[in-house]
Amino acid sequence: MAVIYMDNNATTRVAPEVVEAMLPYFSEHYGNPSSMHSFGGEVAQKITEAREKIAALLGAKPNEIIFTSCGTESDSTAIHAAIRSNPEKTHIITSRVEHPAVKNRFERLSKQGYRVTFVPVDHQGRLDVDYLFDHLTPDTALVSLMWANNETGVIFPIGEIAKKLSGRGIVFHTDAVQAVGKIPINMDETPVDMLSLSGHKLHGPKGVGVLYVRKGTKFTPFLLGGHQERGRRGGTENVASIIGLGRAAELAGDMMAGENTRVRRLRDRLETELIARIPNAFVNGDPAHRLPNTTSIAFEFVEGESILLMMNQYGICASSGSACTSGSLEPSHVLRAMGVPFTAAHGSIRFSLSTYNVASEVDLVIEKLPPIIERLRSMSPFGRQSAGCAPAQR
Ligand code: PLP
Repeated sequence: MAVIYMDNNATTRVAPEVVEAMLPYFSEHYGNPSSMHSFGGEVAQKITEAREKIAALLGAKPNEIIFTSCGTESDSTAIHAAIRSNPEKTHIITSRVEHPAVKNRFERLSKQGYRVTFVPVDHQGRLDVDYLFDHLTPDTALVSLMWANNETGVIFPIGEIAKKLSGRGIVFHTDAVQAVGKIPINMDETPVDMLSLSGHKLHGPKGVGVLYVRKGTKFTPFLLGGHQERGRRGGTENVASIIGLGRAAELAGDMMAGENTRVRRLRDRLETELIARIPNAFVNGDPAHRLPNTTSIAFEFVEGESILLMMNQYGICASSGSACTSGSLEPSHVLRAMGVPFTAAHGSIRFSLSTYNVASEVDLVIEKLPPIIERLRSMSPFGRQSAGCAPAQR
């Protein structure tokens, strides 16, 4: 059975061009980039080129790019660097809808004596920017906000916030793991101090990420060890993956226009048709400010996990929450923060497309999903009640 993969916010297919670029670095070119001999030096040169390609995608300078092992490490490093470099300050700010890579770190810091402000979002997942600025204090060390939400795709106004925060002596970090490669990002015009990205979300390999650190930002390493990454991240480089990520960054630059037209059109058709064919279904999140590839749709009065299992029988891969939180039956903290009613949050499915999706796959989901929902509703006590139920208020 063919796989219809619509779970690209969980991870993406590694582009064939990326695989091709990586392969020689497992076999012929296995030198250590730190070695003095030219066998290692040639590998170091390839890492330099990868750094330049990532810098180009971000509108950054190559020496502002630090390679890490994943988005989670980049987030942890940024938060660690911000608070260790400003030890006199004890107040930190984030949003209520961050990925666990940021959320769990902030919760830990709150237990360790930091005062944490969690900025709320509205029912469409839009950040309360006034709340953020009303809560800044002279003691604020760090503001960390995601660029785009992994569950709903909602985009925060990072450029506008960065400009307003600039010059206040507060470190501004953004988790751009879902945004990079999908929407244009230019650090030259966006005064963010640190930015995280992850290779496997943009058709690169798993196990490699980047932390962008603006020149002049105070930095304290998280992983101490050798002199790699100019002493900012010890550990022998994941050479093949770094080279693969460089190639993925190049491709992402080329594919961005397609993401924002062809992929967006596929996503919009999927969403419009499902909502037209299925009663009591609605989109979670601000439709105007969203990633072009993502839709989170609430199917009221059914269990998301049951929908996923039944779609799985047709090879359709989607997600009922973020990849890291699914597996728990708790409704996602993102949908709860948005005030999505319980009966809708439980039946929310995220479809996240990529450049590899085609129209016939969208057609198949449009055909298969309505009878799945109908069947599940006919079996569920909530579903039977829903015949006489008004749709949730939102
Ligand atoms: N931040 C966001 C917004 C994400 O969506 C993810 C992964 O789902 C991460 C961070 C973690 O990235 P990684 O899987 O590379 O650690």
